[in-house]
Amino acid sequence: MDRFTGSPVHRCGHALADVPADFDTHEAYVLRAAFPCPHCTAETARRAGLKTRVFVNLQQLSPGMAAFVAEISEAGSELEDLLAAIGYGCRAKSTDELHPGTEVIEAAQGGVWRKEFWFATNADPRLVVALIQHIKLEVSWLTGYLPDGEQAVEFCAFPK
Ligand SMILES: [Zn+2]
Repeated sequence: MDRFTGSPVHRCGHALADVPADFDTHEAYVLRAAFPCPHCTAETARRAGLKTRVFVNLQQLSPGMAAFVAEISEAGSELEDLLAAIGYGCRAKSTDELHPGTEVIEAAQGGVWRKEFWFATNADPRLVVALIQHIKLEVSWLTGYLPDGEQAVEFCAFPK
């Protein structure tokens, strides 16, 4: 009975799921307990027939600024709540590297959950590498919440 021994649990009552090494510095490390566990979230999405997918890209967002961008399609309401809490917003799908989805729209209208990790195009490459590591860590943690797990993640591809 985790609730009585003080062990942290997810909102669904299951013990806090394992996370990748180094995740203890991520903004979602503590926050994730306020949401259902990865297994319950993935099961809910699976039962709803959702094919949740994650697309990670590099986009030019303004002169001198670029960003790594994650876009998540068919997230489902439970995962959407978690994504909103860690900085994702619902936007139109991006077309390609030069045409980011910036218009705010509802998921029901075909929107995707988008998060941007900005950097100056003349930034120190070490900063860019650190950003890549951060986004890889985040995506690898998120795979646990996806009905198709790692298979649902695509790098350098855009939502269809
Ligand atoms: Zn659970």
